[in-house]
Amino acid sequence: MIASLLIANRGEIACRIIRTARRLGVRTVAVYSDADAKALHVREADEAVHIGPSPTRESYLLGDRILAAAQATGAQAIHPGYGFLSENAQFAQSVLDAGLVWVGPRPSSITAMGLKDAAKTLMSDAGVPVTPGYMGDNQDPAFLARESAKIGYPVLIKAVAGGGGKGMRMVEKAEDFADALASCQREAAASFGNAHVLIEKYILSPRHIEVQIFGDSHGNVVHLFERDCSLQRRHQKVIEEAPAPGMDAATRAAVCAAAVNAAKAVDYVGAGTIEFIADGSAGLRADRIWFMEMNTRLQVEHPVTEEITGQDLVEWQLRVASGEPLPRTQDELSINGWAMEARLYAEDPARGFLPSVGTLDLLQFGGSPGGRIDTGVYQGAEVSPYYDPMIAKVIAHGATRDEARRRLGVMLAGSAVWPVRTNANFLVNALAHPAFIAGNVDTGLIGRDGEAMAQPPIASAGALARAAGSMVPATDMPGFRLNAPARGTATFLLDGDPVDVALPAAGAAAPALTAIVTEAGQTWLLSPWRHEASHGGGGGDGAILSPMPGRIISVDVALGDTVSKGQKLLTLEAMKMEHSLTAPFDGTVVELNAIAGGQVQVEALLARIEATGE
Ligand code: ADP
Repeated sequence: MIASLLIANRGEIACRIIRTARRLGVRTVAVYSDADAKALHVREADEAVHIGPSPTRESYLLGDRILAAAQATGAQAIHPGYGFLSENAQFAQSVLDAGLVWVGPRPSSITAMGLKDAAKTLMSDAGVPVTPGYMGDNQDPAFLARESAKIGYPVLIKAVAGGGGKGMRMVEKAEDFADALASCQREAAASFGNAHVLIEKYILSPRHIEVQIFGDSHGNVVHLFERDCSLQRRHQKVIEEAPAPGMDAATRAAVCAAAVNAAKAVDYVGAGTIEFIADGSAGLRADRIWFMEMNTRLQVEHPVTEEITGQDLVEWQLRVASGEPLPRTQDELSINGWAMEARLYAEDPARGFLPSVGTLDLLQFGGSPGGRIDTGVYQGAEVSPYYDPMIAKVIAHGATRDEARRRLGVMLAGSAVWPVRTNANFLVNALAHPAFIAGNVDTGLIGRDGEAMAQPPIASAGALARAAGSMVPATDMPGFRLNAPARGTATFLLDGDPVDVALPAAGAAAPALTAIVTEAGQTWLLSPWRHEASHGGGGGDGAILSPMPGRIISVDVALGDTVSKGQKLLTLEAMKMEHSLTAPFDGTVVELNAIAGGQVQVEALLARIEATGE
C-alpha cells in the first residue's frame, strides 16, 4: 500500500478520500487556493500546501503546481478526485513521468474515452450496443442533414468533446437542422476548442443508467451493479439511486456484461463508469439500452454503490493503484437493499437556482438510520463563488426503495441552513413526486414539473409558534405589536414579510432577538415586527429605525429630499440579507443619520420622514 497521498481536489470529495486514506494509515496532503485556506479538506489532511489564487485556472487546474506540491511534501501518489484534472490524460502522464503513482486509469484509457465519437466507435467494435446515429469524420452540413433524416427525427447533435451537459442540441424536424448544427458547432468551438459533432437518435422517455466498473493491473475487471441517475435538471444529476427501479435480473446481467466488455476494451485499471441511455417507454429492456459515454474517474454519486455493496470504492482505488488485485471477485459482490443520494446545493430554486454564496452561519442536517452525509463544509465555513456550490451529498440506505426514499426525505426535511439558501425543499418535493415514488422517472421530469417543485412552502403555524417561543418575550421588545393580546397573537417579520403568529404559552429558556424557522428543508428568519421594514406599510411618526443590528450598504436619499410612500430610503445588510427601508408615507427627509458603510444597532434612528402637508 502506498504510504502517502496528495489529493488534487477540494470540497467533499477531498474529505471523502482523506477519510479512507486515514483509515488505511496513508498520510494525506491537501492542496488549497486562497479561498480555501480555512476549508474542511485543509483542516482534515495531515499536511496542506497552498497552490495559488482562488480561480481554478490559477490553482486547482495547474498541474505543475500540484506536482511540485507532491514533490515538496514527499507524497508518493496523487488522487485527482472528480472534475478538475481527473480526466486530463496529459496530467496523468506527467504524474507517472515524475515517478509518482496516479490513482486512476492509464492515460491511454482516458484518451480513448475522451471524445464521444471515438469512444462510441471503440465500444461498437467491442460489441457494446451504442446509441444509433452517425459518428464519423464527415462534418459537411448537407451530409449530416441526410444522416439525420436516415436516423429519423428527433435527433440530438452532440459535440464530441462536450461534457457537463454542454454542446448538445435536440432537433425535432428537418427544417431546424441547419440552424441547430451551426449553433452547436459555435458553442462547441468556444467551450471545448473542437467544433466536431456527432448525431444521435434522440431517445424518448430517456433514462440515465450507469454501471460502476473496476479494473486492476492484473487484468481483472468486475462491475458493482448499476445506478439510476434519471432525475436531472438541465442534463445535471439531482438525485441518484442504486439499484435502478424496474431493472430485472436478465436486463441487469446484459447491461453489466456490456459495461465489463467496454472496460476490457480499453485495458481499464481503477474506478470507471459506463453511462447508458435507456428508452424507458416500455420499462427497462436489454435491447433498448445503449452506451453513451465512459467516465474515467470516481463519480460524484459513487456512495450509493458503496451503500448497496458494502464496499469502500476509495479503498479499492488505493489498493489497485498500489498494485494489489481487486479486493473482491464478481461472485463475492451482491446488492443489499437500496440507496439514494441527493445533491444539496447552495442555490435558490425560487430565483432560478441562482448560486447562493456566503457564510454558513447555520448548518444542520436531519438524521436517520442508514443515513450518511458527505460534505466539504462546516458550520461557519464559506460557500465561495469560485467553485461548485455543493454543500453536501445526503445519502440514505434502506431495506427497500421506499425506505431509502423516506429516510432521505427525513434527512433533507430536517436540514437547516442559514443565511445561504439551499435546494433542500426542492429535493424534498422531488422525492414526493408521484412519478418518483413510482420509480417512473425520465430525464425530462423536472423540465415538465420542476416549477411546482421549486415553489417554497408556507411556514406552518406550529413551526412559527415554536420559533417565536424562543425569542425575547413579546413585552420586552421595543416596538413590538400585540394584535390581540387575549388570543396571544403577535405580528412578526418572516424574511421581511409581516406574519401573524399564535404565541406559545411558555417562555424560552435562552431568548434570542431573532429565530430560525425550518420546515421541509426550507429555512426562514423570524424577526420582531417593525412597520418601517414592512414594505412601507404602517406609518407612525415617520421615524425610520434599524430593525436589526447590521451595516448600511447604501443611502438612496439626501436630507431635505421629497420622497413618496414606498420609495427606497436606504439598504441595510443584516444576517447576510439585504433589507430595503422605505418611506412610510409621502413626505420630506427631515433627519438623516445613516452613512453608507456604517454599522448600526437595533432600534437606531436612521432617518425621519415628515409627512407632506403637516
Ligand atoms: P455530457 O458529457 O455533457 O454529460 P452525455 O452524453 O453524458 O453528455 O449526456 C448528458 C445527458 O443528456 C444524459 O444523461 C441524458 O439525459 C441526455 N442525453 C444524452 N444523449 C441522449 C439521447 N441520445 N437521447 C436523449 N437524451 C440524451
